[in-house]
Amino acid sequence: MYKYLFGPVPSRRLGMSLGIDLIPKKVCSLDCVYCEVGKTTKLTTQRLEYVKYNKVIDELNDFMSTNPKIDYITFSGSGEPTLNSRIGDVLNFIKEKYPDVKTAVLTNGTLLSDKNLRKELLKADVILPSLDAAGEETFKKINRPAPNLSLDEYIQGIIDLRKEYSGKIWLEVLFLKGYNDSEDELIRLKKAIEKIKPDLVQLNTLDRPGTVEGLIALTTDELKRIIDFWGFPNAEIIASQIERTTISSYRSDVESAILETIARRPCTLEDLHKLLGIHVNEINKYLGTLESEGKIVTQSLERGTFYELKNK
Ligand code: SF4
Repeated sequence: MYKYLFGPVPSRRLGMSLGIDLIPKKVCSLDCVYCEVGKTTKLTTQRLEYVKYNKVIDELNDFMSTNPKIDYITFSGSGEPTLNSRIGDVLNFIKEKYPDVKTAVLTNGTLLSDKNLRKELLKADVILPSLDAAGEETFKKINRPAPNLSLDEYIQGIIDLRKEYSGKIWLEVLFLKGYNDSEDELIRLKKAIEKIKPDLVQLNTLDRPGTVEGLIALTTDELKRIIDFWGFPNAEIIASQIERTTISSYRSDVESAILETIARRPCTLEDLHKLLGIHVNEINKYLGTLESEGKIVTQSLERGTFYELKNK
C-alpha cells in the first residue's frame, strides 16, 4: 500500500489517472465550503516540502516498475499540491524517466501569481486550475481564502500562466446555488475567463457532501443555461458520476469493499480510509458513483457525514 500514490482512479477528465498526493490532510490555501476532503486544518500560502521528494520518487519508481496502464499521473489529493515546494522537481523527474506518461496538475490556482511556481509547472501536459468567483465577497464566501490572498493577484496569476505556458489549461468553475450563480457574479466570471483564455472551461457542481451543511448543487439545465449565457464555444459540463462505471479503471473490488464495510455499520469518509487503507480521493470517487446510483445514502451527524446502505 502506498502512502503518497493513489489509484489509478477513474477520473472524469483524465481517464485512468494515478494520483500523487504531495500534501498532508488538510493543508490548503483555501477552505472551500464544498471541499470533499474535509475542512482545511492548516490554511496557508507557505510553500514547503510537506512530503519529502525522495519518498514520493521511491513510491513512484516502485509503482511504475509494474508497467501499469495509465493515461495520466495527476498531482492532486488531500490539499493544494502546489504548496509543495518540490512539485517542479517531481514533475521534471516524471518527464525525464517516464516520458510516455502525461502529467496533469489539479490546482486551486491561487499560488500561480508566484512566477517561480509558474516556471516549475511548465513541463506539465495539462494544468487544471479552478476559479469559482471573480467578486471579492463571493470569493470569501465560497472559497474562504487564506487572509493574505488577493483575488486580483489570483486571477492575474492564471492569466500570466496562459501567456507563459504552452500546454493545455482547463479551467474549472464549481457552482453552488445561492453562492456564485447570480447574474452579477456570472458577468464578473465571464470577464475574468475572457482574460484568462483557457483551452476549456469546465462547469462543475456539488458532487459529494461539502464541509458546510445545506449546500445545493445546480441542475444540469441550470449549468447549460450558464453556458448559453456566457456563450463560450469551449465550455462544457463535466460528465456525471454515473458514467464512471464505464471507465476501464473502475474497480468493482473497491466498490464491493466499500459496500461490505458500510453494510456492517455506517462510516465516514475518514473511517473508510482507515479501514480500507485507500486514499480519500479514491474512496470519494466511488462514493459519488454509489450515491448517484441510489445504492447508498448520507446522514449528517456530529462526527461528520456518514455513508450507509440504502434500504438496509
Ligand atoms: S482548494 Fe481544493 S482542497 Fe482546498 S479547500 Fe478547496 S476544494 Fe478543498
